[in-house]
Amino acid sequence: MKIGTPKEVIEGEARVAMTPDSALQLQKLGYECLIETGAGLAAGFTDAAYKEAGVTIKKTANALWKDADIIAKVRIPTDEEMGRLTKNKTLISFFNPGGNEAGLEAAKAKGANVIAMEMVPRISRAQKMDALSSMANIAGYRAVIEAGNNYGRFFTGQITAAGKVPPARVLVVGAGVAGLAAIGAAVSLGAVVYAFDVRPEVAEQVESMGAEFVYLDFEEEQQDGAATGGYASVSSPEFREAQLAKFRELAPEMDIVITTALIPNREAPKLWLEDMVKAMKRGSVIVDLAAEKGGNVEGTVADEKVVTDNGVTIIGYTDFPSRMAAQASSLYATNIRHMMTDLTPEKDGQVNHNMDDDVIRGATVAFDGEITFPPPPPKVA
Ligand code: NAD
Repeated sequence: MKIGTPKEVIEGEARVAMTPDSALQLQKLGYECLIETGAGLAAGFTDAAYKEAGVTIKKTANALWKDADIIAKVRIPTDEEMGRLTKNKTLISFFNPGGNEAGLEAAKAKGANVIAMEMVPRISRAQKMDALSSMANIAGYRAVIEAGNNYGRFFTGQITAAGKVPPARVLVVGAGVAGLAAIGAAVSLGAVVYAFDVRPEVAEQVESMGAEFVYLDFEEEQQDGAATGGYASVSSPEFREAQLAKFRELAPEMDIVITTALIPNREAPKLWLEDMVKAMKRGSVIVDLAAEKGGNVEGTVADEKVVTDNGVTIIGYTDFPSRMAAQASSLYATNIRHMMTDLTPEKDGQVNHNMDDDVIRGATVAFDGEITFPPPPPKVA
């Protein structure tokens, strides 16, 4: 069978779902690899590099979609791209199945199969295919770099002949995959880092990375994430008030705030309110990694950088992984390649779409003329 990767069509998207390295691995599984001309260029992979790795270059998106049995891409397909799917083709891509009914219906009508990368179950066996994590890791790191680029001071404290420089104080709100990556990057640059999460079990991870976990003055236990499969759920009003009170106290002290708080299948909770932005020092920077889901910060504008009247920069970019396109593409292409490995148990270049396999079933949102989302809960933890 043939697996092909088109050029991403969303403006500004620089990632690509197949790299020359991943193509070599896919060929070992028995597949013939195709790529649309120029698809890898923005991520630093030339047509010549693909050719050298044995990939066939297709001149147009149409030709690519027509010839490939399996299409691997990054972004949620556009209507035009969905229109190119036909019966028996398999699409592997981010798909946002919870908010993409039209896409699911289109796949059903066509009889095409769709594997949504954000639906890969978060169980140990599937970590190698977990594109949400590989991209969140990049976003967290890049958020710190972007903050530094907009912050006119050192991260690290220094004592120099010309004077004493205090370290930057960084607060990370939400210590999931992106938050932990942000903590790691900020600590390594020498900042004093604080972090908060509603899941108390992350305190140990936060502290082991050299940051301080922010505890609330709250009598009941903090939320128990274990009850929701490791994810956060909506906070009680009392808990939320305690959280906001703590943030209000911290706001004037923080130089950089990075927010990553998300609750699956919901708008991002608003946690850093207008008065907290106002209480921050001139020159402080906020990076809102939840911007795509509505933002954690009052004043975030998705895909923009705004500077408030009191001189606080709020960054709401939603393309952090694409800003590190070479690395992001390599990691994403590896996630895809591992998915293909599981789909090709015989290494014979033929997809065996085994719906009894927890990981494949979990990620498949349309199969053989049916919508298969949402999936049943996975059997193995
Ligand atoms: P996410 O992107 O859904 O959310 C980011 C963080 O925001 C989470 O830590 C969440 O608790 C936090 N949050 C939500 N509401 C908040 C609030 N009001 N205030 C502060 N923080 C808030 O989460 P994620 O980074 O994708 O991962 C979440 C969980 O999944 C973690 O437990 C992680 O370890 C786990 N995980 C497991 C695997 C696996 O394969 N086993 C892989 C990846 C992630």
